[in-house]
Amino acid sequence: MLTGITASDGIAIAKAYIYKSEAIIISDHRIENVEKELIKLDHAIYETESKLKDLKNETAKKIDEESSLIFDAHIQILLDPQFIAEVKSLISDSKYNASYAYNEVSVKYISMFNQIDDEYLKARTADLKDVSSRVLRNLLGLASNDLSHINEPVILLAEDLTPSDTAQLNMDYVKGIATIMGSRTSHSAIMARSLELPAILGIKGLMKEVNHGDTLIMDSSSGGLIVNPNQETFLFYQNKLMTEEREREELLKLKHQKAVTACGKDVELFANIGSLEDLEGVKKYGGDGIGLFRTEFIFMEHKDFPTEEEQFIIYKQVLDRMDNKTVVIRTLDIGGDKHLPYLKMDEELNPFLGHRAIRLCLEKQEMFKTQLRALLRASIYGKLKIMFPMIATVAEFRAAKNLFNEVKEELLESDYKVSSDIEVGIMVEIPAAALAADVLAKEVDFFSIGTNDLIQYTFAADRMNEKVSYLYQPFNPSLLKLIKMVIDASHKEGKWTGMCGEMAGDILAIPLLLGLGLDEFSMSASGLLRAKRMISQITITEAKKLVNQCFDYESNEAVIALVKGHKFS
Ligand code: PEP
Ligand code: MG
Repeated sequence: MLTGITASDGIAIAKAYIYKSEAIIISDHRIENVEKELIKLDHAIYETESKLKDLKNETAKKIDEESSLIFDAHIQILLDPQFIAEVKSLISDSKYNASYAYNEVSVKYISMFNQIDDEYLKARTADLKDVSSRVLRNLLGLASNDLSHINEPVILLAEDLTPSDTAQLNMDYVKGIATIMGSRTSHSAIMARSLELPAILGIKGLMKEVNHGDTLIMDSSSGGLIVNPNQETFLFYQNKLMTEEREREELLKLKHQKAVTACGKDVELFANIGSLEDLEGVKKYGGDGIGLFRTEFIFMEHKDFPTEEEQFIIYKQVLDRMDNKTVVIRTLDIGGDKHLPYLKMDEELNPFLGHRAIRLCLEKQEMFKTQLRALLRASIYGKLKIMFPMIATVAEFRAAKNLFNEVKEELLESDYKVSSDIEVGIMVEIPAAALAADVLAKEVDFFSIGTNDLIQYTFAADRMNEKVSYLYQPFNPSLLKLIKMVIDASHKEGKWTGMCGEMAGDILAIPLLLGLGLDEFSMSASGLLRAKRMISQITITEAKKLVNQCFDYESNEAVIALVKGHKFS
């Protein structure tokens, strides 16, 4: 089995289609007629721009509006004045032909991006390569790559896939994608997820092991690609695929149903998002609201700090599109494993224990206040709730809340409208906050438990370190006790508690969390329907009984065995 990075979950069975683009060969011959070469360049840029505009429209129709925005980014790269000026000066001053000059400048920028130690920026080199290859093909009169002619079911294999390749795929025939290059944050990976197309990227020996026309099985949830399977394996996966398709159809029937327990209690089932593009999935799977908008992803996609206006437009759009349903927006959570290329941060020995999230925002007050202004201005367009990440002490919450109040007053004085009932809460992801939940509950409007971090801090096990991943123990009674403390403390003060860490979407954890009284569950949109089905299979009395039993056990495994052994109705 060949393995790689899972970019988008699912099973696919089809023949291999190996996609190779025609090589671009560039000669370095000098020219005499500078004027003619400059016109040639302008023409190629113009042609490329109109093709990119077409691709944008096609993508908006075929996938969605958000996915099509990548082509705006490509047009921006294409028309970058600095880039064009550098190419033109190589033509005018050094008398290089247009394709050589264009390639030189593009290679320079690609290697510059590659040297930056930032996964996101590295992934953007794919966009630059995509644009350059279009311009060069136009300059050299080469046929453009065309994937739209594929007319039988295939799993597409390529060295790398550009966003424009992905946009051209005929979804009736392409069942999966496998590449040698690529990362989870590359735009092709993001688009594959929006298209719900199984995808595995970064498979090292891909082209050596697979021939055009081989039968392939892709099971991307295990990150694996099987080449020319035997009859037994083929039948196994064919069955698995059919079961998955039937399950998906069954689950989709639940889309319009409310999340209700077997005893009739309504449960709020929300989604986590990182961009406007993720709203498609929330609509598709019927999320009751947004329980976590990780705003740092907006900041990570910008070349510089997004302005108040830019942020306002995004927050307003989320609220607008969620039609007055609850939208919990988390303020900037940068640091740890999340960095901004334009924000210089000191080297730290323990970045996850360092100057991150609210700690950073309380220091960089202008940056924080700009975000709060944008959020407060957007608040009149829906039901906005704001939460602060990584709160460890009551003093931190008060400091952040004071800035919130200050910004609110400033806006009102400047005649902006601000909603009068914005709830302000915190993420509980540090054990100290869980232990102080009784004190915090008197001041906050709500809690949202971030188990991804709460588990790493409770067990002192770095969530990025595979060697200690066995300590990711959501079912360990130690963690369940902390969760119980938080929920009980909030209820005592008449407040509510949600959960937006991965644990909230874990099918086995849901009964326990219901038993503990969790009010809101927030997870990735694709997990909503499965969670809804689990909720419908349990009564609150049953869930309470089950969770109380857990406290008699001593390990993660024992609690998992207990839940697995329980017969749900
Ligand atoms: C968490 O820590 O559980 C959480 C939801 O935040 P993030 O995963 O963004 O750190
Ligand atoms: Mg967190």
